[in-house]
Amino acid sequence: MTTLTGTGIGLGVAAGPVARMADPLPAPADEPSALSPDAERERAHTALEAVARELEARGEKAGGLAQEVLEAQAMMAEDPSLADEIDARTTTGKTAERAVHEAFGSFRETLQAMGGYLGERAADLDDVAGRVIARLRGVPAPGVPDPGHPFVLVARDLAPADTALLDLDNVLALVTTDGGPTSHTAILAREKSIVAVVGAAGATALVDGETVIVDAAAGAVITQPSADQLADATRRAADRAAAASAPPTPGALADGTAVPLLANLGKPGDADAARALGAEGVGLFRTEFLFLNAEKAPSVAAQRAEYETLLAGFCGMKVVVRLLDAGADKPLAFLNDADEENPALGVRGLRALRAHEQVLRDQLTALAEADEATRGRGQGADLWVMAPMVATVDEAQYITDLAHEHGIRTAGVMVEIPAAALLADRMLAVTDFASIGTNDLTQYTMAADRVLGSVASYQDPWHPAVLRLVGEVGAAGRAQSTPVGICGEAAADPLLALVLVGLGATTLSMAPAALADVRALLAQHTLDDARRAAEAALAATDAAAARAAARAAASRTTAA
Ligand code: PEP
Ligand code: MG
Repeated sequence: MTTLTGTGIGLGVAAGPVARMADPLPAPADEPSALSPDAERERAHTALEAVARELEARGEKAGGLAQEVLEAQAMMAEDPSLADEIDARTTTGKTAERAVHEAFGSFRETLQAMGGYLGERAADLDDVAGRVIARLRGVPAPGVPDPGHPFVLVARDLAPADTALLDLDNVLALVTTDGGPTSHTAILAREKSIVAVVGAAGATALVDGETVIVDAAAGAVITQPSADQLADATRRAADRAAAASAPPTPGALADGTAVPLLANLGKPGDADAARALGAEGVGLFRTEFLFLNAEKAPSVAAQRAEYETLLAGFCGMKVVVRLLDAGADKPLAFLNDADEENPALGVRGLRALRAHEQVLRDQLTALAEADEATRGRGQGADLWVMAPMVATVDEAQYITDLAHEHGIRTAGVMVEIPAAALLADRMLAVTDFASIGTNDLTQYTMAADRVLGSVASYQDPWHPAVLRLVGEVGAAGRAQSTPVGICGEAAADPLLALVLVGLGATTLSMAPAALADVRALLAQHTLDDARRAAEAALAATDAAAARAAARAAASRTTAA
């Protein structure tokens, strides 16, 4: 038996046979073919057709959105102008593999040059080309394998296109060799409650078919497990499934300290699912998700309708709505008009709203009206409104005053910029609450772009520098009796959630699928335990050491 270590996502455990995701194929060499041009042409056409049929069959099996994506890919494989491009190359003596590679490559460049939606389809074209070339070579197609039975997927990392097509009924667990806790794989695993260990470098040695235990709670992948270990893993998985299907209880520590567990949402229609998972309200409603494709600012009436649905969906509960957060990873055409070299450091969030104050005023009006209308119908929620990307005390004062002026009772700020955390005592003195966005707070503290894979290892909210900033805000909140929530991905990591409570967070908001694991872990520890785990993490010198120190402190307290 050997144990490979990585970062566990959630607390799940699963066991099963490995199926590896094949690496991308190397480009076929540009060498003259030993076959006739007609023979190469025939090979190419047969492979293209077989891939088109295979994609259609997979689409039929998957249904829904995946079917649309796969059918569009099947059409790419049968595109007559692509076939012409391929034929033109086999005629000159190139192999079918090389002709496919070059023809798809030139289409890819054309699509990319078009930009926008079509540009994004370039990756789909690569996927089809890879499948056709793999078939010509008689090797497994790159991408997610389909061994025909449940499996533990082992990959370097998963691209968004891979995750969209994952057959969740068959994937028992995910193991990646690369990627950290904010990688695409980790986010998917949290969202869909898939057992996962990411960044397990040793997993490169795993082979197809071997049985492993993936223990996310321990951040470990166990190879060649004993019968006892397998039985233990199966029992733990069954216990967890039973706990997840039990009616959810409000979030609380073992000593009874309440820690309300809220949902991060982007659509009012997700309310029922979030409540079913035990969300005690909404801690972050991302309003920009409603208007990502809008060319012009939404009207008060259009916004009001959306907000009324949201508030009615959480009648009697707390609902924290974030004002439009435009810019960088979430651009909005009607708010981000400048061409900036560093949009993450530009006119974004509250800065963009201030520069378009009528848009801001309209949104506050729509929210206040929706609040009043739903209350009038007896469907009201406890509406809180907060501004994104607040950097200065002046901005905190501005947005709080403006929101109150529009009839919003509770107005607060997001703490996502280190300056806001460092001056939290002064920030909180002029506003009603703070909510820490750990995704951006980590990005700005570590100077690591949150969407750039090559710096993903810096994007770790466990870093003691990030935790120290969270502690500043928590301490200010305690001193002034001002609520301090957490609404970044960090709150979805059960152990980190405990540490955040120890640092002073009073509520935690996360993707609804993460609620059960966080609830379960909090229930095992007291507030004193949380504070001890926080102290241990703060005393570490890097993210991995902070995680390990908190885990050790928490396991001592669980055992006690
Ligand atoms: C954050 O930055 O942590 C946050 C919650 O906001 P978003 O992820 O939408 O930027
Ligand atoms: Mg943010």
